Amino acid sequence: MHSTESNSLLGLTLQELTSLAVESGQPAYRARQLFDAVYRQKIDALEQISTLPSEYRAQLRDSGWRVGLPKISQKFVSSDGTARYLIELSDKETVETVWMPEGDDGESGDGSEAGDESGVPSGWRRATICVSSQVGCAVNCRFCLTALLGVKRNLAAGEIVGQILAVLREQGVQPPLQRVNLVFMGMGEPFLNYDNFMKAVHLLVEGTGIPETRMTVSTAGVVPRILDFGREAVRPKLAISLNAPNDTLRTEVMPLNRKWNLQELMNAARAFELRPRERLTFEYVLLDGVNDSITHARELAELIRGVRAKVNLIALNPGKELPYRTPDHGRVLEFQRILVESGTPTFIRRPRGRDIFAACGQLKRTVELPALA
Ligand code: SAH
Repeated sequence: MHSTESNSLLGLTLQELTSLAVESGQPAYRARQLFDAVYRQKIDALEQISTLPSEYRAQLRDSGWRVGLPKISQKFVSSDGTARYLIELSDKETVETVWMPEGDDGESGDGSEAGDESGVPSGWRRATICVSSQVGCAVNCRFCLTALLGVKRNLAAGEIVGQILAVLREQGVQPPLQRVNLVFMGMGEPFLNYDNFMKAVHLLVEGTGIPETRMTVSTAGVVPRILDFGREAVRPKLAISLNAPNDTLRTEVMPLNRKWNLQELMNAARAFELRPRERLTFEYVLLDGVNDSITHARELAELIRGVRAKVNLIALNPGKELPYRTPDHGRVLEFQRILVESGTPTFIRRPRGRDIFAACGQLKRTVELPALA
């Protein structure tokens, strides 16, 4: 699996752009102009880079260079304001990217995102973009619709960043002036595309101006990469999809658990070095009658005891292909109560855009609006 975006400026670092400029006899500062045009101004054609002399733009074009911003091929808007974008890559593969105004970035309930900032247009508070890391997914979680696609290929760094730029452009939103959170929780397993994912993080921090502390990456539990990630100097926050409190159950719902079991996963979680005041997030999808009993909640509390963490509970987002049901809200509240009483901050994730198949675990490149029952 490799990049299909050869000759795209999008995906190149400042250093790579510097080599490009210098090799074609341009002064090195042209690289900064290209970098800003691509990642900050989000231009989608070379002709729009007004800071460059037209001869250099022509030279780039004649040697086959293009910006490489992916195309939004469809947009579906939910009754709750969530938008799901179908994004087309240069090889015609598609991924989905979700825009959540007033978004649930996994931080819901902690109050840290409230309030306005100066210079922010009225009515605007914050939004969250949920980003894909692969075309499809190889992990095969039993409760997730993306799993049904299998994995087609990894996304290149420029394709990961490109989703965000395309959506920001379409929404007319400009970080860092306007607050945007990113969650790498779309299609795919980011830690099975680690290098491209990390390169994208750096480009977004340095180029687009979204701080890494406003980003969260979620992993199904790729233990070696959790260890690597903990050593990164610049890194998003970490969420781990736990979904079961013991190995038998976890292997049943997440076959990946055979490769890295709960003991290995929890060892990595315990070894993970957190920044001051940072918490690890454990995500837990509640499946009716499967992993949502009081006993499971107590077992989960025991499993994560001592980790500076919070838990995000997600009641299953349904799909007719899935062998599980959504638990009643009462059961979800009971599960939450036990964890809270054990001393773990525990939040219930509000489902976003279920009516347009934009919610967690529902991203499967749905092209037409499904008939609403
Ligand atoms: N592969 C990574 C990134 C995707 S995050 C990971 O698994 O963490 C997607 C989140 O949605 C995960 O926490 C996953 O457990 C959850 N999820 C998957 N299917 C779901 C469904 N049908 N309903 C609710 N949550 C689901």
